[in-house]
Parts: sequence; C-alpha cells; structure tokens
Amino acid sequence: MLGRLGAVAILIGATAPAHAADFRVATQAEYAAAVKRAHPGDTIILRNGEWRDFQILFTGAGTADKPIRLTAESKGGVILTGRSNLRIGGDYLEVSGLVFRDGWSPTDHVIAFRKDSKTYARHARLSEVVIDRFTKPDRRAEDIWVAIYGQDNRVDHSHFEGKGNAGVTLAVIRDKGHPEENRARIDHNYFGPRPPLGSNGGETIRIGTSDESLSDSRTIIERNIFDRCDGEVEIVSIKSGHNVLRENLVLQSQGAFVLRHGNGNLVERNVFLGANKPDTGGVRVINRDQIVRFNYFQDLAGKDFKSALTVMNGVPNSVINRYHQVANATIEHNSFVHVARITFAAGADAERSAPPIDSRFAGNLVLGADGASPIVAEGDASGIAQRDNLLSARLVEAPNGLLYPEGSDAGAPRDLTPVTRAEVGVGWYRPATAEAAPRSIAVPPGPGLAEAVAQSRAGDTIALGEGRYDVAGAIPVSHRIALRGAGRDKTRIVFTGPALLDVTAGAGASLEALAIEARPAGAGAVVRIEPSARANYSLALTEVAVDGTHAAAGLDVIATAPGTFADRIEIRRSSFAAIPGAVVAATAEQGSKGWYPVENLVIADSDFAQVGIVADLLRRGTDESTFGPYFTLENSSVATSGKQAGASVRLSGVQWTVIAGNRFAASAPIDVTHSVGTPHTRITDNLFADTPAPLVRELSYKGPARAIVSGNRSGS
Ligand code: CA
Repeated sequence: MLGRLGAVAILIGATAPAHAADFRVATQAEYAAAVKRAHPGDTIILRNGEWRDFQILFTGAGTADKPIRLTAESKGGVILTGRSNLRIGGDYLEVSGLVFRDGWSPTDHVIAFRKDSKTYARHARLSEVVIDRFTKPDRRAEDIWVAIYGQDNRVDHSHFEGKGNAGVTLAVIRDKGHPEENRARIDHNYFGPRPPLGSNGGETIRIGTSDESLSDSRTIIERNIFDRCDGEVEIVSIKSGHNVLRENLVLQSQGAFVLRHGNGNLVERNVFLGANKPDTGGVRVINRDQIVRFNYFQDLAGKDFKSALTVMNGVPNSVINRYHQVANATIEHNSFVHVARITFAAGADAERSAPPIDSRFAGNLVLGADGASPIVAEGDASGIAQRDNLLSARLVEAPNGLLYPEGSDAGAPRDLTPVTRAEVGVGWYRPATAEAAPRSIAVPPGPGLAEAVAQSRAGDTIALGEGRYDVAGAIPVSHRIALRGAGRDKTRIVFTGPALLDVTAGAGASLEALAIEARPAGAGAVVRIEPSARANYSLALTEVAVDGTHAAAGLDVIATAPGTFADRIEIRRSSFAAIPGAVVAATAEQGSKGWYPVENLVIADSDFAQVGIVADLLRRGTDESTFGPYFTLENSSVATSGKQAGASVRLSGVQWTVIAGNRFAASAPIDVTHSVGTPHTRITDNLFADTPAPLVRELSYKGPARAIVSGNRSGS
C-alpha cells in the first residue's frame, strides 16, 4: 500500500499536474504520506470520525493562487481528541473544518503557526476551526490555544470556548531580538465564555510581549465577538505597535482591551455591552499616540483599571515592562452610556507619578450609571484636554439597537453595525453543554446515598427523606448535583470517612435542608475539593446544619485545594457548631504568583458557634491581573469562635469585602490584610460583643485609610 503511494508521489512530482488533487486519508500514516505528496492547489481531506492522539504536522509550499488545504470530509465531522495538536509550517497553507474536543495538547500550544523555531507559517489561514474546552487538567499548567508566528497569517470564522487553564487563548508571538511586522488578521471569530482564571495568564488575545513592544506588529483584530471572556483583567492585551482593534463586540466580559505596551494603536468602532456585570470594562490606555475613537460603551460596571475608559499614569523613565507615560492620546467621539467609571491618571502613586500629557478627550457622550459624572481623576489630569463632550442627553434607540443622544452628534457614529452571532464562528457547531433533563431521585434513609450519587447525571437532585443516612467513605462528585433533605431537623447525614463529598473537575454540589454530623476519625472535611479539578466548580449550602462535636481535631467544612478554582461558594441560612478547623478553608494556594481558590465567597443569615475560623481566605503575591476574590458576610452570628486562630474571619488579598449586619460575641477579631490590587473593604453595622474591633492592615500602600469601617457597635 505504502509502496504504491510512493510511486504515485513520484509520478505527480515529475509531471507538475495541471489539476488539483484531493487526498482522502483515514489514518495518521496516510495523512503523513499525503502531506509529502501535496502540491499547490491540492487538498488533504481527513475522513470523518474521531482522530485520537493525533499531533498534526502540516507543511508545504502553496502559492497565493493555489494554497495547499487541509480540511475535514465534512465540516465538524472530524474530531481531534486525546493528546492532539496542530502545527502549520510553510507558505499558503489553509486549515478548516476541524474540531478539538475531549482532550488537551501535550505541548505548549494546541495550534501553532510554525513547524519549529526555524520554519514559520506565512500567508496561512485557519478558518472554521473549533477548540472547545481542550484544557490541560492542571489549571496552572500553561499553554496557548492558537499561537500565531510568522507573517500575513489569518484566523477567521473560528470558535474558541472554555479555556480553563493558564495561558492566552490566542497570541501573536514575536521573536525576541528581531520582531517582524506580523500583519496577522484575526476576524469573525467567536471567543466564547472563558471563566475567571484566578491568576495572570487568562487573556483571550495577546499581541506581542513587552520585550519587543516598541516595534510594530500591525495586526488587525476585527469583527469578532468576545462573549463572557472573564479570564482576567486583560481581555485583549496589546504589547506591540500599530495594531488595529475594530468593530468587535464585547458582551458581559470582565476586563478590558488594554494597550499595555507599544505605541500608535487604533481602537475604533467597537461595541462593549456589560449588562452591569461586575468588573466589565472598556479600554485602558498606556503609552504614546494611541487612538480610541467611535466606540460604544454601555452598562459597564468596572472601576479602577477596569473602567469603561482608563487612562493610566506612567512611571518616569519606565523600564520596558512597567508603564510608559501616556502622551498624545486621542480619545474622541465615543459613547459612554450608563457606565460606572472613567478614570484618568489611574494608578497614580509614588512609582506611577508621570501623568498623561498632550492628550485630548473630545466629542464624547459621557453618561454615568447613576446620573452623576463617571469621570474620576486619581492624579493630575490636566494633560488631557476635555472639549465638546456631552454630559447629559435624552437617549433614543437607533435601528442598530444602540442608544444615541437626541439632537446631538456627540458620541459614537450612527453607522455602527454591531457584528452578529451569525457572522462569526461556525454555523455548524454547538458546544456539548446540553444536558439531559434533570431528574429528582428519591433515596430512602440508610446506606444508599453513595450509590445514588454514583448513578446520577449532571443536574440531578437527590431527594432525601426523614431519617438517618450513613456514609462510610467519601462520595465522589464528578458533575453538578443537589442533595435536598426534608429539613435540617428531619434529614441527618452521618459520615465517618475523611470527607462526605469529594468534588472533582467542573462539578458542583448543592446541599439543602439537611443536617450533617461529622464523625471522621482523623482530619477531614464535609466537602473536599480534589486537586487538579480541570474546570471551575461551585458549591452551595442552604439551610444546612453541620455538627462537629464528635469530630477529631482538624475538621473543616469546605476544604479547597491547590490548582482548583470555585466560581462561587455560597452559604445561606445554615448553622455550624463545634468545627475545630475552618468553615471555609481557602488558603491552599501558597505560591507567589497570585493564584487564589475562589472568586465569590458569600455567607449570609447563618450561625457559627465554637468554630475554629469562619473563613480563611488568601490571595498571595502582587499580580494585578485578576478581579477577586469577592467576600460577603452578612446578617450572621459568630460566637465563641476564632480564639485559637487569632481571628474569626481572616482575609488577605481579597479585593471586595462586605462584612455587614453581623453579631460577633466572645470571638477573635476580623483580620483583613490589604496586600495587592485595589481592595474595597466595607465593615459596617456589626455588633462586636466581647470581641476586639476589626484589624485592617496595609502591606505596602501608603495613604489615607481605604477600608470603610463604620456603624459598628461594641458591647458585652
Ligand atoms: Ca495579563
């Protein structure tokens, strides 16, 4: 068989065929042979089906008129699974119709526009390709899904969704020492939901790195949709010059387009719709000669570095990877509609002391979220000339669905045409998120709970009746389930293993209306998070009573693990008694890179008596790339708790804290440390009976007190 293929290759090679050939291949060996034989104009067609553990190397020399193509028998019919990836090295190579799913790349990229460090792609095109949750199992292990090397390459009409591990979704990579103009074009793609990473490295797009940022990439990013791209504070991170970001649609995405390094970039005609989701931002300006014009920003709730518009202060004589001063920025004819904040001279401090100069902010429509001006200057903003901005207006919806001021041409142009979902991505792909209809499974008292969970499907509810449920070993939870009892005075679960639930990859557990008696012989937890959970998880405890009276020392209620991340942990109307450890133990990430274990931790209307500590939550390091954690404790009571830990609630590096309307009695103080970012801390209207006043420490910030501590009473 292979001998015959070889003969054909020689024949074609000798005669320079006039007609393009199709090579239909069904195995990796057939594919490798076809690549060797392919000439300009030829197409290699992968047979439909699953291709497992296939590291595709696509090389060749096509021409502008006759590219060499690699595609699927039918679009979406070829699924790359397991340990698969793709390298493209050569000229005029085109790839389309492939899906990467149910696996991850064994290398540092899923798709790379190079064969090796010497052979880059030029004039290559990646079109109608899907990468869906093709995520390394350890979320801290880094890779790039699409790494664009070389010049004149295009990525278009593709679908990227659910990157859960560290590393940029799509990056243009520029060689250190001899950066080229990339002239990459990234257009009509659907960048679907990317969950918060909880660290730097969660950008959706990055162009270049700081080293070569003073040279031009000339990459164009246009008419893409960014849908809930929440990975970190930079949705798009520009680190090179003369790039264009045009006519993109950004939907409910936390973060901003950040002109982080490099000069002369153009951001125009983009539409940002935040729906008032926290930390939804717009554009952040740093460096020289940046133009931000004709953009539309609506319902963006972000402040600080995630404002609808942020113009930063620079560092005098900045090194390449810090903040160059803003000079000659042109920000004109943008619409800011119901935005929470526009920040000038952002981040002004002892180091960032160089204010924006020679810049202008003109012809914009500027409407705050609450009727007041959203503009805040954190330093000297006199270098930003403000002219002809419209600060109040009656708004009318235009045929394009956007709001414009009546009787004024201030703000964004009327001919904006927001890109539609039908224009981007691929029409033939639907993510495999559809689940079977959730069921309710009734389990009688006794030993049957573990088996019922094992038999459950994602979304199911296990309904528990009145009586006692015994659980000997930890129950693995690998999808989203609810355990719903008949009431905490009726349904009682007694567990004697090291945990009640072991929650794994992307799962979630909701416990409702039941009592839990913890009787582990050694250290344990009610809910234990398994390390290397690939996707974010969530937990909820509602009307749950946990009793640790008979537990050994070292019992926690929720024990997080390094390398895992919870979107949300929520405790409501629940009670906790005699817990030797922490109710929420969230200090598992001890490295300095800024990883932390949970984005939102909410505790409300709950009672804690004799607990080691209510919540112990840590975000270490000084990285400013992430949003959280967010912490709320309200309308709860904490009694005789925290003495051994020295704190009843300990928060370090938390960005948003609300502790309000609680009653603390005979307990250790609240202990808050501000270490990183821009912490917003409110401790208000609490009663501290026989409990010391809250401690708030600043690790490095020097200035007026940032925490709001008010309306609290002390007593005995
Ligand atoms: Ca970043």
